[in-house]
Amino acid sequence: MRTLIFIFAIFSMSILNAQPEAVDSNLMMEHVEYFASPELDGRLPGTVGYEKAVSYSIDYLESLGVESLAPGYWPQRFSMETNIITDANMYIGDPGNEEELKTGVDFSVRGYSGAGTRQSDVIFCGYGFDNGKYNDYKDIDVHGKIVMVFKSNPPFIEDCPRMSIREKADMAYQKGATAIIFVSQPNQENPQKPIGSVMHGDGPMHEDMPQVQVSVEIANRILKGNGEDLSNVQTQIDESKQPYSFNTKTNATVKVFTKYNMDGNCMNIAGVLRGSDPNLRDEYIVVSAHLDHVGSIGDQVYYPGANDNASGSAAVLELARIFSTKKMNLKRSIIFILFGSEEKGLVGSGYLADNFPIATDQIVAMFNMDCIGYGDSIKVGNGKSNPGLWKMAMENDSLYINRTVHSTWGGGGADLTPFHDKGVPGLYFVTTNSYKYLHLPGDFPETLNVGLYTDLVRLVSLLCYDLVIEGAEVPKEE
Ligand SMILES: [Zn+2]
Repeated sequence: MRTLIFIFAIFSMSILNAQPEAVDSNLMMEHVEYFASPELDGRLPGTVGYEKAVSYSIDYLESLGVESLAPGYWPQRFSMETNIITDANMYIGDPGNEEELKTGVDFSVRGYSGAGTRQSDVIFCGYGFDNGKYNDYKDIDVHGKIVMVFKSNPPFIEDCPRMSIREKADMAYQKGATAIIFVSQPNQENPQKPIGSVMHGDGPMHEDMPQVQVSVEIANRILKGNGEDLSNVQTQIDESKQPYSFNTKTNATVKVFTKYNMDGNCMNIAGVLRGSDPNLRDEYIVVSAHLDHVGSIGDQVYYPGANDNASGSAAVLELARIFSTKKMNLKRSIIFILFGSEEKGLVGSGYLADNFPIATDQIVAMFNMDCIGYGDSIKVGNGKSNPGLWKMAMENDSLYINRTVHSTWGGGGADLTPFHDKGVPGLYFVTTNSYKYLHLPGDFPETLNVGLYTDLVRLVSLLCYDLVIEGAEVPKEE
C-alpha cells in the first residue's frame, strides 16, 4: 500500500510538473479592458478603432517574439464592404409633439443601414414577406412610408426560404417604402432587444434606406395608434396564416447618418512561434479568436463586446505569452490567429481558410475561442467531429478543471467552421449561458466571470502544452 501511495505521489508530481505556466488573469483582463474601451469604439472593420485593436495585438505579439506566419499576414488585408453609423436619432409622435427614443435601448441601427431622414406614419407589414402566395404587402400602400416588420420569417410557411435582413429591406424598398423598422416576435420566450449587428445577408445595398430595430415596447407604442398590440397581431397572423398589415397611424421620424464604402477593407492577423523538434516542427497547433465587433452608433452608444470577443482575443494574446516563455521547448509550431469580420458572417476566417499558407494535413489541431468570459461552465464544441481531441480536452478537464459540460456537437462552430470544412481538426470553446449581453451596449468587462474565463483558457493551454511541448499524439478514434 505504501509503495502504491509512493508511486501515486511520484506520478501526480510528474503530472503537476508537466503543465504550462499559469494563466495570468490580470494580464488577460488588461487586454479585455483595452479592446472593450470607448477608444476602440466597438472594433468595427473599416474604423480607426479596429485598426487600433490590430496594431495593439501585433505590437504585443511581436514583443513576445511571435512573427508573421508568412509574408503578408501581419496583418493580412482583404477587401469587403464597410459601413460606419456616424449618428442616428429616432422619434415617435406627431411633428412638434414627438418623443425622442433612447439610442441603443429603444432602438438600434442595423450595421448596413442606409442613410437619410424619413418621416411618415408607420405601416405595419407583418413578416415583410412576399413569395407570390403569401404576401404581407397585399392591399396596402407603402409608397413613401416607413414600414415595420418582424425580423424573423413566417413560421407557418413550409420550407420558407429564409430572407436575410438585407432581402427584407430590399423587398420593402421595391414596394416603395423609404425606411424599415425591424422588431422581434413578442411571443417568443425572450424577445430580442435592439442589438448592434452587421449580420445583414446577401442582396443589394440601399444607401438611401435607413434600417433600424426597435424594442417590443416601442413597437407596441407605435401600434397603439391603431389600438393594436404586437402580441395579438403576431397571434392573429400565425394562427390565421393570413397577412394582417395596416397603418398604425403613429408618426415616426428616423434619421441615420452613415459612411458606406463598397471597397472597404478588413484585416486578419496570423503569427507563429516555431517549434524545434526536427520531426514535429512542421506540424502546427492553431489558437484563434475573432477580434472584430459591431461598432457604435456615432458618439451616442458603442458596443464594447467584452465577452464577444475581447475575451477570446485576449486569450490568444495570453496563450502567446505563455508559450513564448517556453520557446526553447516547443516541439510543434504554434500559430496565433485573430480574425476580422466574424460578425458579418465568418468573412475573415473564410478568407484566411481559403488563403492559408500551411497545408491542411500539417495542422494537428485548431482551438477557436468565441465568447468565453461570461456564463457558468465550459462548453467544448465540435467534439463529435474530432473525438480524439475531445477526449484529450475532457481528460484535461477532469484532471485539472472540472468545469466542462459533457455534451458536444459536430460540424464546426463559429470561425472554426471554414477550417473544419477543409478538413482541419479542431475544437470550439465557448461558455454556457454566454449570451446575456450579446451585442448589447452592456457587454462590459465587469460582467465577466474571471474565474471561469481563466479556467477555460487554462484548459486550452493544457491541450496546447500536451501537443506543442510534450509532442503528444491525438488519440485515434475508437
Ligand atoms: Zn458577435
